[in-house]
Amino acid sequence: MPPAALALASPPARTRDVTPAVVLERLRAALPAMAGRAAILDQQPSFPSEDIAVLRHIGALEVFAGDAPTPLQLMEALRLVGRANLSVGRLFEGHINGAKLVSWYGDDFQRRRLAQDLENGALYGVWNTEPNPGARIIRGGKGPILAGYKCFASGAGHVDRAIITALEASGARRMVVVDGADAARADPTGWKVRGMKATLSGLYNLSAIPVTREALLGEAGDYEREPRFSAGAWRFTAVQLGGAERILGLIRDHLTAATAGVHMVQRARFAGAVAATRSAWLWVREAALRAEAPNAGPDEIALVLMTRGVVERAGLDVMEAAARLVGTRAFFMECPIDLACRDLALYLRQPGPDKALDRAAEAFLERDAWSDDRLW
Ligand SMILES: Cc1cc2nc3c(=O)[nH]c(=O)nc-3n(C[C@H](O)[C@H](O)[C@H](O)COP(=O)(O)OP(=O)(O)OC[C@H]3O[C@@H](n4cnc5c(N)ncnc54)[C@H](O)[C@@H]3O)c2cc1C
Repeated sequence: MPPAALALASPPARTRDVTPAVVLERLRAALPAMAGRAAILDQQPSFPSEDIAVLRHIGALEVFAGDAPTPLQLMEALRLVGRANLSVGRLFEGHINGAKLVSWYGDDFQRRRLAQDLENGALYGVWNTEPNPGARIIRGGKGPILAGYKCFASGAGHVDRAIITALEASGARRMVVVDGADAARADPTGWKVRGMKATLSGLYNLSAIPVTREALLGEAGDYEREPRFSAGAWRFTAVQLGGAERILGLIRDHLTAATAGVHMVQRARFAGAVAATRSAWLWVREAALRAEAPNAGPDEIALVLMTRGVVERAGLDVMEAAARLVGTRAFFMECPIDLACRDLALYLRQPGPDKALDRAAEAFLERDAWSDDRLW
């Protein structure tokens, strides 16, 4: 059970009464330095503590985890952080997801604790993926305890509170709030990956963590409860979009600096990359607006699932454009395009993309899930 009040190294500046628009402005100002730190974090690799401290300090961890931002403001924040450093974007998105789960399914105590945590600048995360046999709630000497591990757990050993999923003996999946910052439980050594290194998405050992009443979150099945579970995926598409935009910007920098000029074929390829990225932007924007609407339902789920495919395709297209437009230089480790592509290539591997597209296609075969203005 995490401590009731977290003591954090760098408490945030006072954020009460600060609007999301103001925090977005602060974020824009902070992003160039964040982008500048990405290469060193990748090389070490190390957790982006400084970047998280910046998000905390400007109020982004608090304000964007709450209800105040409009869907488009939230999209903007996720996209911009993703553009600066995709690893930080992934952690930021996980934080927002974790805070939302507590605000949706928490009891009075848990929601009060969330408010206190956010005011203190705590970082949340959500860890569902697990190695076999998976996390379980078992009987301990003094009450129920956890057994098992989480893997691919972004920020393992650094996240102040993690929402994990675990099976009860009955087979029901429950959410449990645990301390995610216990370095002794975290093992990042297996996270040997091409990109997204700074997320330190390693293993986390849950064994013997007590499952108290305050730790158990919501009811059985709340974690996958629809439409929030599938439609909420729009948030990571916004971060992925930021990653694609970063590569597009770097391609443009390269082309505009080329002393030999830009060949017609290069312009055509660049046009394709711009169209792919901006089309993805339109889908993410629509998905954000529709998924966050109070009446979101099966059509919004289909729209978000399709958006995942659109953003994945755009990301793959932009990476191909970088390789073909910039050529060999794009693959040198000191070239920022190399890191941006390594990060995006991995971050596009969010769970089951083809399955998501298949579900979207199934829905669209049945009905025009885009709008009431019937296509068929
Ligand atoms: C940088 C990063 C950070 C992450 N952080 C977290 C985190 O904090 N918390 C967390 O819980 N998880 C996290 N994950 C894990 C992530 O959510 C996925 O679970 C993980 O990436 C595995 O996804 P996958 O689709 O490759 O898995 P798999 O299910 O192993 O799929 C493997 C392949 O099979 C295909 N496939 C599977 N089923 C079908 C099907 N029915 N139809 C068609 N194709 C299919 C998939 O498309 C995929 O290509 C993270 C992953 C990454 C890359």
